[in-house]
Amino acid sequence: MTNLLPEMAEIWQQTLNWQPNAQQQQQFQHLYELILRGNQQLNLTRITDPQEFWEKHLWDSLRGIAPNGQFIPSLLENASAIDIGTGAGFPGIPVAITMPNCQMTLLDSTRKKINFIDESLTQLNLSNAKTFIGRVEEIGHYPQHRKRYDVALIRAVSNASVCAEYTLPLLKQGGLAVIYRGNWTEDETKSLQNAVNQLGGLIESLEQFTTPLTNSIRHCLYLRKVVNTPASFPRAVGIPTQNPLL
Ligand code: SAM
Repeated sequence: MTNLLPEMAEIWQQTLNWQPNAQQQQQFQHLYELILRGNQQLNLTRITDPQEFWEKHLWDSLRGIAPNGQFIPSLLENASAIDIGTGAGFPGIPVAITMPNCQMTLLDSTRKKINFIDESLTQLNLSNAKTFIGRVEEIGHYPQHRKRYDVALIRAVSNASVCAEYTLPLLKQGGLAVIYRGNWTEDETKSLQNAVNQLGGLIESLEQFTTPLTNSIRHCLYLRKVVNTPASFPRAVGIPTQNPLL
């Protein structure tokens, strides 16, 4: 087979203190093939090289649930989780493959992407993940989503304070938001701090790390929901990005 994903067992072990079992490795491979096929019809990702896919989609997705480089199963064991703006399914699908006891909701506003994911979930036999089409500004007010999740994941959707406004209303008190970021600046910490205060959260930690194959710098932010988010958040569709909380 030409498009064979590398296994990288040693690198998984060294960097996250974890490695996929045979079934998970086979599901990663299958996911990769589904994405390559889906890319022929839809613009799902520009990352198609096997090593790059492994690093930027699989490893990066799972690094978010391995704070300090330690994979922590208890973070998602029996948890209900949501991936906001999941696109082609990242980070939510690799996380759902890895944590079969968590219930993952994959949310995106684009119907075509969600249709692709629905087909992929069937093909992958992944029964602990389901999809939802919608804008997070709206679903953040629906009783079946607001204050329902233990963990909210968000990668490459918007700046950090917008991501805080998208994630915190969906969390139960005590829940954790994981915001995946490329670059990070001190200025962002200041505006994020203000946003998080208004939303009932606190910044639990900010981690910088390098990816294992290309040594690219990445960040993950962990926000804890400590008190209820005021009912006015998230604001109406488009407002958080036009006028981010400062
Ligand atoms: N998270 C994926 C990843 O890291 O590969 C996809 C990132 S893609 C750049 C951003 C995705 O967020 C798009 O699929 C878009 O449709 C979705 N999105 C953006 N704003 C959204 C919103 N307000 N509500 C729901 N989905 C949104």
